[in-house]
Amino acid sequence: MALASRATSRFITKRSTLERSALDIVMRAGDNGILQTELWKKIGVSSREGSRICVRLEKWGLIRREKFLHEGRWTYKIFSTKPPIKLDSIIGAPCLTCPYYSKCAPGNEISPEKCTWLEEWVLTSEV
Ligand code: SF4
Repeated sequence: MALASRATSRFITKRSTLERSALDIVMRAGDNGILQTELWKKIGVSSREGSRICVRLEKWGLIRREKFLHEGRWTYKIFSTKPPIKLDSIIGAPCLTCPYYSKCAPGNEISPEKCTWLEEWVLTSEV
């Protein structure tokens, strides 16, 4: 029980929320990337906390940092390593019309890891 609640809380900590926000902004920046200072400003963190977030995201392979000369000073630009998700890629996903959507969650009796509809869609989808 304690382990389960600890595992669940992993996804709702302030830090993980900031990591998701940062990743979302980096992904939206696309091929242009975003200056690390701009990113930190957008998610409302100090440079110290921003650096930690970027190091973690980089370690997980979700972003890459490139040295960048900005207004005469060296800084870093941050780029997503993943292509942006396109709406086309989820059209037809069974979850969008699933009658069990509200009961479905990882670890539940009804869950994505046990779902044959989802498995079939992933295996047959051409996106
Ligand atoms: S994973 Fe399966 S059960 Fe869960 S919402 Fe998607 S289609 Fe429904």
